[in-house]
Amino acid sequence: MRDHFLPFALPDTDEAEVTAVAEVIRSGWLTTGAKVRAFEAAFAELVGARHAIAVSSCTAALHLALDALGVKPGDRVITTPYTFAATAEVIRYMGAHPLFVDVAPDTLNLDVEQVAAALRKERVAAIIPVHIAGLPCDMERLAEVAGDIPIVEDAAHALPARFGDRMIGSLSRFTCFSFYATKTLATGEGGMITTDDSAAADRCRIMSLHGISRDAWKRYTAEGSWAYDVIAPGYKYNLTDIAAAIGLVQLGKLDVMWRRRVQIAARYDEAFGSHAALQLPTHGAGHQHAWHLYMLRVDNARIRGGRDAFADELRKRNIGISVHFIPLHIQPYYRDTYGYAPDDFPVAYREFRREISLPIYSRMSDRDVEQVIEAVLEVASQLAS
Ligand SMILES: *Cc1c(COP(=O)(O)O)cnc(C)c1O
Repeated sequence: MRDHFLPFALPDTDEAEVTAVAEVIRSGWLTTGAKVRAFEAAFAELVGARHAIAVSSCTAALHLALDALGVKPGDRVITTPYTFAATAEVIRYMGAHPLFVDVAPDTLNLDVEQVAAALRKERVAAIIPVHIAGLPCDMERLAEVAGDIPIVEDAAHALPARFGDRMIGSLSRFTCFSFYATKTLATGEGGMITTDDSAAADRCRIMSLHGISRDAWKRYTAEGSWAYDVIAPGYKYNLTDIAAAIGLVQLGKLDVMWRRRVQIAARYDEAFGSHAALQLPTHGAGHQHAWHLYMLRVDNARIRGGRDAFADELRKRNIGISVHFIPLHIQPYYRDTYGYAPDDFPVAYREFRREISLPIYSRMSDRDVEQVIEAVLEVASQLAS
């Protein structure tokens, strides 16, 4: 057994990030400036988008996207209940209401045919799909059923991911990424909006910094001026050059980090594939999975105590695990505000109760991976019923 705790997630940082941050600090320019502009340009190029706007989080990115679309109080926005709090809270920021649509049992992504059915019944201002774990949603079919309704992708898990041969970030009106500490590109806190729409990109940029008209950050540079116009009550969502410097280093090794996660996923698949009580995550043939998460599912009928006991036993064996996600419709706020019962979204509720996420990050050694496998197989046989 492992003699010390294996964290569930760790950022893949080394002296290169430390040096990049030290340079920024020595430069005297700590907040939004040249590093942020360079990070945005490199990111836009990577995903194949015309514009990339760096912000302080994916939550901020989603909020700014909905603002740029002009989502109004009382509007409805389709999203999945099988996600993190951020995806739906931004809908409430606008005074709009989430219209949850259940997920497909294999992918755990929005069930697009149920989206089509919802659209036949309701007027909807936008759709926010989540590429859960990094597995792309069926964006072709979703775009087809959405028609003119704008799509804002929550791509917090989906870097680097591809739908067919196109990078996630290049497909919809807006795509929002996260650089939170546990994500596949980590700057501590941070996010990015990508879009091809120049007017929307301007609006996001302006609203990310107090509603001040363009390039306010330049006002402390030689070419800047002290004058500025506030054209709307904006937000304080800009990214710092400190974070962007980390982001630039991380971008340089994004592919190497992704390849390591692919290797770990393949090793897990091989080890668990023939076990009757364990269900492997869906890969999505023809698409590139980012492998932010490795979402294993336990057959609760074959495991004494089910997923909860399974999780406890792994922790006892010093393996950090997590569960993704507690569906939003059973969270007190959404349950009480909208009167949901657990079975209103039966697939999300059922799959949540059997899901367990295993560690999958590029700093894991082969030995770490083998110890996770050993622990999972041991627990599965110990709790077999
Ligand atoms: C992490 C996460 C977010 C929020 O990202 P932040 O950068 O922390 O705001 C949004 N959606 C999903 C699905 C996430 O996992």
